[in-house]
Amino acid sequence: MLTQAPKGTQDVLPSSSYRWQSIEAVMRRVCAMAGYREIRTPMFEHTELFQRGVGDSTDVVQKEMYTFNDKGNRSITLKPEGTAGAARAFIEAHLFADPLPCKMYYVSCPAFRYEKPQSGRLRQFHQNGIEVFGAADASVDAEIIALAMDVLRGCGIGDLRLAINSIGCPHCRALYLEKLRAYLQPKIGGLCETCRERFERNPLRILDCKIDAPALTDAPAMLDSLCDDCRGHFEKLKGYLDALGISYEIDPRIVRGLDYYTKTVFEIITDTENGPLTVCGGGRYDGLVEELGGPATCGIGFGMGVERMIMVQDARGVAPKAPALYDAFVCTMGDEARLEGMKLVRELREAGVKADLDHAARSLKAQFKYAGKMDAKFVLTLAGNELEKGVVRVKDMDAGTECEIARADAASYIKNVIKDGAAQ
Ligand code: ATP
Ligand code: MG
Repeated sequence: MLTQAPKGTQDVLPSSSYRWQSIEAVMRRVCAMAGYREIRTPMFEHTELFQRGVGDSTDVVQKEMYTFNDKGNRSITLKPEGTAGAARAFIEAHLFADPLPCKMYYVSCPAFRYEKPQSGRLRQFHQNGIEVFGAADASVDAEIIALAMDVLRGCGIGDLRLAINSIGCPHCRALYLEKLRAYLQPKIGGLCETCRERFERNPLRILDCKIDAPALTDAPAMLDSLCDDCRGHFEKLKGYLDALGISYEIDPRIVRGLDYYTKTVFEIITDTENGPLTVCGGGRYDGLVEELGGPATCGIGFGMGVERMIMVQDARGVAPKAPALYDAFVCTMGDEARLEGMKLVRELREAGVKADLDHAARSLKAQFKYAGKMDAKFVLTLAGNELEKGVVRVKDMDAGTECEIARADAASYIKNVIKDGAAQ
């Protein structure tokens, strides 16, 4: 127990954290280019926020939340997703009084759901996400989809399926749900236990059920019941996506798990050996800010599972190469040389050269071997002989060549050869 991480959690070890950093860098770059700024909200919120925001009838709130009472007897929940916290912050900080739209993003944001752990499904996972408040036109729906695609493509994951749908507004959805219930009513006895519960409180979700949905292919589609406003919005979205050259499929089965969605919903899906895997899901939530007590403000966003992105990169063989740990490794012999080596390493680091030296008092031969294992491009030797002559012996590990450089010039010499190498 003591040395075992809790079920459904994962460590990111030093040898693989560059994978996360590279995805985070792509996300940050894509967002910054489009006028998004980062938001960081607390890891936990008042439970009520998710009950109201995500919705009492959803699977997430009913079954998956990590909820506990703190020592002050407040009900606290570890955030299961990023949107409700962002909307709470938007209201609390009166961001609605600033010029709108308010465009924000988050990177590798932890989310917690008590789910059955399996491939691509963790209890603590991480999302990259975007939220936009105060932009009603479907152009922003198309923008965030384009940005999600750009992030995924920037991470080497092109060639994904984009599925879009509209789940309408509360007005047209109410009429649709009547039609859906009428369709489902005679079938109710044959539905799975979860769907029988969903029939009253969240029948839309039945269309998304892995067990029942395949038998419900002739269910009425929300798209056929949209009001003029929602239909117009959906048509505009399709026009914008066409204009941007983003291909999509319309999938009336995409209903999304969270209650706050209105109009546009979408998923970006990849096909894996174990079936389709959703890497990114999002949609419009025009009622959320008002539901949480803020002024009526529309919104839209997406969440992208970082662990799933890494899985897809691995499956496709497009993982980035690990960056070299060191450009230069300094080998020393004797106390005096180690002292000089410490100074040299500091100079190298200040010059922007990734450098280190032996901290384990190993033999020169063992230090060279270690430098080789660490893939250092240059090995710099400082022993009695070099100290006396005031030089450093520099070995280019790729070329196998050696030269002596004046001790005082060593850091700038390495800096320049690395820079030239990078420029080639
Ligand atoms: P699913 O249908 O796979 O359960 P969801 O609809 O619950 O997904 P969202 O709430 O939309 O997922 O979350 C957005 C993204 O976060 C998902 O597309 C997925 O990439 C990722 N995600 C969701 N739940 C998990 C989880 N338990 N473990 C890992 N990643 C997850
Ligand atoms: Mg889920």
